Amino acid sequence: MERTLSIIKPDGVAKNVIGEVIKRFETDGIKIAAMKMIHLTKIQAQGFYAVHKERPFFNSLTDFMTSGPIVVMALEGEDVIAKNRKLMGATNFEEAEQGTIRKDYATNIEQNVVHGSDAPETAAFEIGYFFNDLEIQKR
Ligand code: GDP
Repeated sequence: MERTLSIIKPDGVAKNVIGEVIKRFETDGIKIAAMKMIHLTKIQAQGFYAVHKERPFFNSLTDFMTSGPIVVMALEGEDVIAKNRKLMGATNFEEAEQGTIRKDYATNIEQNVVHGSDAPETAAFEIGYFFNDLEIQKR
């Protein structure tokens, strides 16, 4: 059993696709182990995306991520990191496969609806960034 962090970004919340995204997770057999809606501060967004701090889009990305509320979830299931990345589609929605969340709902390369951890180590850091142990359901 594996866990990953999913975020429905401010554009996804604004487009009213929270339910649509969660439906895709549940249809794929993924369980939600923790969930909440929050509005990040700039400092909190910078901390979350610290690995990208040297990238040219860091300021724009952290502005975007603080532009409205987000939904953060700890997802659980077998191979859930890869499963979630497949449901999300490529970072650039123009390159994403048909039927993926980003292909269907992204606006541009930055406003791409969802975040998903890319490896077990990043998943552990990212889940811990938003949830304490008591907030995560144990099965
Ligand atoms: P992800 O793992 O697919 O989310 O992609 P990355 O970790 O490479 O990038 C993190 C996030 O930064 C992406 O989901 C986008 O929101 C944003 N991003 C990535 N590349 C670009 C870019 O070239 N320009 C801008 N403005 N944002 C980008």
